[in-house]
Amino acid sequence: MGKLNNCREAIRICRDARAMLGGNGITLDYSPLRHANNLESVRTYEGTDEVHTLILGNQITGTAAFR
Ligand SMILES: Cc1cc2nc3c(=O)[nH]c(=O)nc-3n(C[C@H](O)[C@H](O)[C@H](O)COP(=O)(O)OP(=O)(O)OC[C@H]3O[C@@H](n4cnc5c(N)ncnc54)[C@H](O)[C@@H]3O)c2cc1C
Repeated sequence: MGKLNNCREAIRICRDARAMLGGNGITLDYSPLRHANNLESVRTYEGTDEVHTLILGNQITGTAAFR
């Protein structure tokens, strides 16, 4: 649950920071989207949201939604 939520929240925070910078936020002069891009990598290699959710669902309900 921690792995699922921390990447998701960190990416949300990057997007908020990007929005606060307006147009400047999408340029390479500012770091929020660089961090967001790094976090998307982490989100992939540490387990995608979908796969984490399937594993959590299995643990919580005892029923696997995957084979
Ligand atoms: C920067 C980086 C470094 C990496 N380093 C390593 C490493 O050192 N060692 C290593 O072994 N691997 C490494 N990987 C690979 C990484 O583990 C895989 O990319 C990751 O497991 C996702 O697998 P995939 O890319 O094949 O995507 P897929 O499994 O094909 O997933 C593609 C999409 O389908 C979704 N999906 C997949 N299965 C299901 C399902 N059953 N139900 C619903 N949705 C599903 C996923 O959530 C995702 O959105 C790295 C990847 C990156 C990006």
